[in-house]
Amino acid sequence: MKDTASPEVTLAGVGLSRRYGNNLAVDDVSLELKRGEILGLLGPNGAGKTTAMKMITGNLAPSAGSVNVCGIDLIDRPTAAKAKIGYLPEIPPLYKELRVDEYLRLAGRLHRLPGSALGDAVQRAKRRAGLSDMGQRLIGSLSKGYQQRVGIAQAIIHDPDVVILDEPTVGLDPNQIREIRSLIRELGNEHSVILSTHILPEVEAICDRVQILHRGKVVFADAISGLRAFRGGHSLQVSLRRPPQLEDLQKAVQPAQVEQVGEGVFRVIAPPGQDSTDQLLRESLERDWGLYQLSPAQASVEEVFVHLTRQDDAGAVMTEDSRMETPA
Ligand code: ADP
Repeated sequence: MKDTASPEVTLAGVGLSRRYGNNLAVDDVSLELKRGEILGLLGPNGAGKTTAMKMITGNLAPSAGSVNVCGIDLIDRPTAAKAKIGYLPEIPPLYKELRVDEYLRLAGRLHRLPGSALGDAVQRAKRRAGLSDMGQRLIGSLSKGYQQRVGIAQAIIHDPDVVILDEPTVGLDPNQIREIRSLIRELGNEHSVILSTHILPEVEAICDRVQILHRGKVVFADAISGLRAFRGGHSLQVSLRRPPQLEDLQKAVQPAQVEQVGEGVFRVIAPPGQDSTDQLLRESLERDWGLYQLSPAQASVEEVFVHLTRQDDAGAVMTEDSRMETPA
């Protein structure tokens, strides 16, 4: 690919694939990141997230495809392209016997920062990662949450345009997770960020857009609002004291689809753009079904994956355009 990316696009991966022997770990994945945007790469373990991230950071050669960082081709000009990227791998590259300041100076030198700029760069990275008072602490003596902050500080030490974080909250406790998520949101104000995770609410809490990977392929790509709509903007959960037979309920609310999810509890999924609420209220009053609960339903993470996997097995890719055309 030539160095022609538009200035607003900080990172573009096109047609990326990677084989390990016979295993196609990443299969024709494309992604684009704009300045100031946080993109979530979501997928279960083994989906290909780490492999994709290693390719877009120049740590693993793709079997096919290209990566362009701020207009610079990663394969043609790796040193210049990598200078624009900060990377926090799944296992942070920390030297636990070093003090925070020592380690960040080392990270800065590895990124070829001149000696005169190191002091300021370390101070700035520490401030942004919430480590200002921690410079003299041994990394090994810090909590896991603070060690992760050090990992993020080394990723931003050279003030890169793009920051890539692989499963940054794994192994942290709930308070640490909250702090690291808020730190990532702040990073998104100045940098473009790609974040991988297997936790759907994490993507909803932090990201502007999401790409869902399944068996190496992109099975969903949309804004977070699109993901929320996909999870159930048009689904209702209804509880009935005197439920009819499933077929009768199905007939009464068609064209919506009905699934039974518990004793007297049903999920009613309306076609895109339609709402079954009024119809359901009317029918349940007329037929005396003893309606006592009616609420919007959100598909669980498992349901989202099952649904997308079904699409994937049918050969379809869920994108902004095709999302609503396929019934749930
Ligand atoms: P994720 O980060 O989503 O958990 P990975 O990118 O780690 O997924 O793995 C994707 C697939 O590639 C998995 O089937 C995994 O077993 C395989 N894989 C990853 N790294 C290697 C490797 N170094 N050698 C062989 N297979 C690998």
